[in-house]
Amino acid sequence: MTATTHNWLLRSRPFLIFLPIILGLGILVARSENLTIGDKILLPCLGLLAWTLVEWVAHRAMHAQPTSKRLACFLDELHMRHHREPHDLEHAVISLRAAIPLAIILFCLEWLILQSAWLATAFHAGLLSGYLCYEYVHLATHRPTIPRLLRPITRYHLLHHYQNPRRGYGVTSPLWDAVFGTLPDPRKT
Ligand SMILES: [Zn+2]
Ligand SMILES: [Zn+2]
Repeated sequence: MTATTHNWLLRSRPFLIFLPIILGLGILVARSENLTIGDKILLPCLGLLAWTLVEWVAHRAMHAQPTSKRLACFLDELHMRHHREPHDLEHAVISLRAAIPLAIILFCLEWLILQSAWLATAFHAGLLSGYLCYEYVHLATHRPTIPRLLRPITRYHLLHHYQNPRRGYGVTSPLWDAVFGTLPDPRKT
């Protein structure tokens, strides 16, 4: 395997694993007779919105300063390395060692809260779609050429990297930064 193929595989791993899962969940939901049309539309939309909150909370948690050396190393590998090496796209995506357990834990939580595997499946399809959008947007913000549509959100994310890493935890949207008072100050650039 060449280095280029290896790097491409590393960068693409969330899409290679989660895209087929989302498609499978989507087909299950679309064909299900246990869900109403309203469930099939509303729950994935709510899952998508819930992802933006998960994104904010997870990113905020990764900037915690733990006293445990082991946890600090884990967070470093998971995120702080990306702050030191923002152009290393292979390490800009969330490691599958963290993404897969998180996806399973969240599905169990959704099942527990919604009290139905079908409702949770429809919700989870939206949530995982939000996660893949995040991976796409985040990779795009660190590439040399940025699609025109993503330029505002790129500027926003780069404020988190280069102005104040304690602000701007939202990557796909500033929604929860506005709610929790962690919006960056663009005037300081
Ligand atoms: Zn970044
Ligand atoms: Zn960060």
